[in-house]
Amino acid sequence: MVVVGAGPVGLLTAYRLQSLGLSCLVVDKRTAPSKASRASTFQPACLDRLAELGLLAALLPQGRQVSLLRHLALPSGERRDWSLACLQGQTQHPFRLHLEQHLLCELLLQRLTRRQAPGQPPVLWGQALVGLGRNPAPDQPGRLEAWVQRSDAGARPQRLTARWLVAADGAHSTVRQLLQLPFDGHDLPAPVVRVMLAQLPAAVGAELAGLTYLRHPLGSLSALQMRTDWRLILRPGAAELDSALADDRWARERLGQLFSSVCEPSVWQDLPMVHDHYRVGQRCVGVRQVGRCLLVGDAAHITNTRGGLNMNFGLLEGLDLADSLASASNQSAAQQQLAVANWASHWQERTTSVLLARTARLLDSNPVFEPNLGSGSPERDATVLIKACLLDLTISRNNRNHAR
Ligand SMILES: Cc1cc2nc3c(=O)[nH]c(=O)nc-3n(C[C@H](O)[C@H](O)[C@H](O)COP(=O)(O)OP(=O)(O)OC[C@H]3O[C@@H](n4cnc5c(N)ncnc54)[C@H](O)[C@@H]3O)c2cc1C
Repeated sequence: MVVVGAGPVGLLTAYRLQSLGLSCLVVDKRTAPSKASRASTFQPACLDRLAELGLLAALLPQGRQVSLLRHLALPSGERRDWSLACLQGQTQHPFRLHLEQHLLCELLLQRLTRRQAPGQPPVLWGQALVGLGRNPAPDQPGRLEAWVQRSDAGARPQRLTARWLVAADGAHSTVRQLLQLPFDGHDLPAPVVRVMLAQLPAAVGAELAGLTYLRHPLGSLSALQMRTDWRLILRPGAAELDSALADDRWARERLGQLFSSVCEPSVWQDLPMVHDHYRVGQRCVGVRQVGRCLLVGDAAHITNTRGGLNMNFGLLEGLDLADSLASASNQSAAQQQLAVANWASHWQERTTSVLLARTARLLDSNPVFEPNLGSGSPERDATVLIKACLLDLTISRNNRNHAR
C-alpha cells in the first residue's frame, strides 16, 4: 500500500492501516512536516473516533474544548447561545476541540515512528509522486505502478509498485491530475481574511463565546477561541479586496466598525495581530476510485472553511477506507474490489448529500439565527445543530456497518 501525502488525512489513514496489520509506505513531496495554521476545529464525530484509536487523550490538553456557540448581532446586541451539551447521549464528546491540525499530524508521526525499525522514518519526505504507470483493475492480476522523485535537482524518478495507492495529496492532487479526473465546482469570488490575536480588547472578549458568529450590516465575522489566541475571520466584499489583502489596516478598521457599539474603534489600532488570507472554494471529484487508486481528503473534495467540516470529513472517510481495505485484505480480489467500491460509492454520496450540501447552506444562511434553535427542547436543538453545523454523528457509524 502506498499513501501519497502526509497531511492529516494521509497520516491518519496510514496509522489506521498499520494498526490493522497492513504495511504501507507514506511519501510526501515536502521535505519536512508543515506547521501552517489551517484547520483548527475537530468535531464530535471525529473526536469519538480519535478517542477509540487512543489518540485523543494526548490532543485534549493541547487544544481548547468549546461547547458554547453564540450568534451575535451588532450593533443591536441580539444574541442566541446554544450548548453542544445537548449532544450528550449521541457522542462521547459533546464539544468542539479547537486545535491546529498540525498537532494531530505531529502526534501521528510520533506514533508511526514508534512502529518503525530504528532509524527508519515513518514518511519518505521530499519524495513527490510524479507519474502513474500500470493501474490494473482490482480484480485483475498485477500491481499498480507509480513513480516518485526526490526533490533534489537531478534526482531520477524511482518506480514503486503496490496493491493500492491512497491519494491523500491535497487540493492540488497530482494523482487526480494524472488520472485526468475533473474537480468540478467553483471558487468563491473573494478570499477570506484571517487575523490572529493573543488578546482581544476586554469589552469584546466579554461579548464572545468560544465560537461566535457575528452578524453586522457591514459584514459577518466568525471568531474562534484557541488555547492561546483568537482567530477572527472577516469576509471583505469585492470592492474592498485590494486594501483588505494588502496589509492589516483594513482588518483593524473593519474590526473597529463591527465592534463600535462595544468599544472605541481606536483600540484595534495598536493591538499586535498576525494577518493573512486564503481562498475558498467548493469542488469535488465525480469518482473516488480509478483502478487501484483511491482518493481521500482534499484530493477528493474542498469546501468553504465555514463550519470547519472539510478536514473532519476527510479524516472519517480515510479511517473508513483503512477499515474497508483491512477487512477485505485476506479475501479474494473480487471481494476486495467490492469492499472498496462500497467505500467509494458511500463516501461519494455522503460528500454531495452531507458535506457539500451543508457547507453550501452555511454560506447562504446564518444558522445562529435559525428560528428552530433555542426552542427550549434539547432534543430538537441537537437535531437542528447537527444538521446545520456539525457532521452528522451517524455518518461514520452507518458506514462502518454498511460493508460488513
Ligand atoms: C486556512 C485554512 C483553514 C481551514 N480551516 C478548516 C477547519 O477549521 N476545519 C476543517 O475541517 N478544515 C479546514 N480547512 C481544510 C483543511 O485544512 C484540509 O481539509 C486538510 O488539510 C485536508 O487534509 P489532507 O490530508 O487531505 O490534505 P493536505 O493537508 O493538503 O495534505 C496533502 C499533503 O500531500 C502532499 N503532496 C501534495 N502533492 C504531492 C505529491 N505529488 N507527492 C507527494 N506528496 C504530495 C503535500 O505536501 C501535503 O503534505 C482549512 C484549510 C485552510 C487552507
